[in-house]
Amino acid sequence: MIPAPLKDKLNQCKTLPSLPAVVVKVIDLARQPNSGSRELAELLSQDPSLSAKILSAANSAIYGGLEVTGLQQAVNRIGVEGALALALSFGLAMNKGYKRNGMDLDYFWKRALVSGLAVRELDKLMDLKFEVETCYLAAVLQDIGMLALNELDPDIYGVIFHSARSHRQLTSFEEREYGTNHAAIGAWLGKHWGLPEKYTLLVEKSHQLPKEIDKGNVNLRVLAVSGLLADPWLSSNKEMSMTLAYQAAQDYLNLDEQRFSHLLLRLQDQLPQISRLFDIEAPNNIDTFNLLQDAKHLLVERNLRMMQKMAQQQNELDQLKKNSERLQEQLKRDPLTQIYNRQHTEQKLNEFFDFAKDQGLDLAVVFIDLDFFKMLNDQHGHAVGDSALKAFATTLEQELDKNCLAGRYGGEEFVVLMPGHSQTSALDFAQRLQEYLASSPLLSHNQEDIYISASMGIASFQEKESGFSDPDELLNAADKAMYTAKRTGRNQILLFGRNGFTSQPETS
Ligand code: GH3
Ligand code: MG
Ligand code: MG
Repeated sequence: MIPAPLKDKLNQCKTLPSLPAVVVKVIDLARQPNSGSRELAELLSQDPSLSAKILSAANSAIYGGLEVTGLQQAVNRIGVEGALALALSFGLAMNKGYKRNGMDLDYFWKRALVSGLAVRELDKLMDLKFEVETCYLAAVLQDIGMLALNELDPDIYGVIFHSARSHRQLTSFEEREYGTNHAAIGAWLGKHWGLPEKYTLLVEKSHQLPKEIDKGNVNLRVLAVSGLLADPWLSSNKEMSMTLAYQAAQDYLNLDEQRFSHLLLRLQDQLPQISRLFDIEAPNNIDTFNLLQDAKHLLVERNLRMMQKMAQQQNELDQLKKNSERLQEQLKRDPLTQIYNRQHTEQKLNEFFDFAKDQGLDLAVVFIDLDFFKMLNDQHGHAVGDSALKAFATTLEQELDKNCLAGRYGGEEFVVLMPGHSQTSALDFAQRLQEYLASSPLLSHNQEDIYISASMGIASFQEKESGFSDPDELLNAADKAMYTAKRTGRNQILLFGRNGFTSQPETS
């Protein structure tokens, strides 16, 4: 996570945030599996000023309850982990003598304070079942890496700090400059101090983007909200910070407006007292009511914009789908006549053949070739020939039964597929077509009616009788019948039968 050269520099830096000796011992103790509150109280008592602070914290509104007077009682009230958390935060706060030429150090302390407090208030306000002390410590330490970066590279880090317009932007500026962010460095520092992994892991993940956060981890969700909750007090863009905090509280913790507003008031109320406890100047009060109203409006507007954008995207998607469907359909069509092309006709023939074979159904195929078409072109011109082909295709489709399909197979050759139709039925169709062509001109040109006749061949597949083993054989048989009809006079229909070509169905 941290690039090696930066890690080397961190290891060599003599002025990283450090802990008083007693706090280091407290950490050691906390790592031992069965450490009790008695040992802890004894250890803390070695540092009178730390002991005094822990005692007053135990008596503050954070913990509440009857007054405790001894350190042992205080540790009993706040628990071993709570005492560790307090010792660490006090230990750091006592030790504020860092370089002042980079970032605004107050920012760090205030953010630690508000987010730590937010963790405790979230626990009181909601039944979230998270590890309060663990999260408290992680919340207080989540930005500690900023102090380390500030020590390491005060000039550059100062510029980065002051140019970032939000905490999120700060981390992304850090990533650009250092290849890592202060959350990763904070986790490293925690490990360096010997803090147990459960804290350092949380610190490391404290600045994850909403899409990265493991929503199943309630500690992480609380931690993410705690940092964002501090920002309205600290950021120059309070409206945006409040909007982000409110949105995160809704998304991660299901916090409704009423409870969120209550939480803001509780934080604002307690900040002066807690700040005193840590010797930190309290952040200025904010107008929680109006900021929350602004945040709500911003969210509504944003949702509206998002919904409009989504509707627009859906429209574009529908349009694309329609275009692609139209294109797909167009690919099946013959450009001149707009009936199906050869490729699609053959594909459907395969499907119909398999289906007929499976289900024991009939399938008839009619192969049609227009007579003397070249002559028509020669006499009237190619354009008239084209119109004749279009008119013929239209006629075909009009005469066609439902479920049947007509395709243009080649220049003036057409194929009709008739699933479920017997030879007799196909012959009926062909005869109807023949009669129509004889009685109605396909088109007129220069006041001359143009009639066209056709030669047709029919073959049919019947599971039990026909010897056709594949669709090609069936189509070839119809073609052969057509060819024979052509050769033996044109304008006639022949059926392909077991005993040769006939003009009437064979009787079995
Ligand atoms: P037959 O009765 O033996 O079938 O004679 P035919 O002239 O119809 O047959 P032939 O195979 O000799 O010629 C087919 C003609 O169809 C030749 C070709 O120019 C014409 N043709 C093929 N495709 C098109 C087309 O898209 N438009 C036009 N106008 N003519 C076409
Ligand atoms: Mg031909
Ligand atoms: Mg022809």
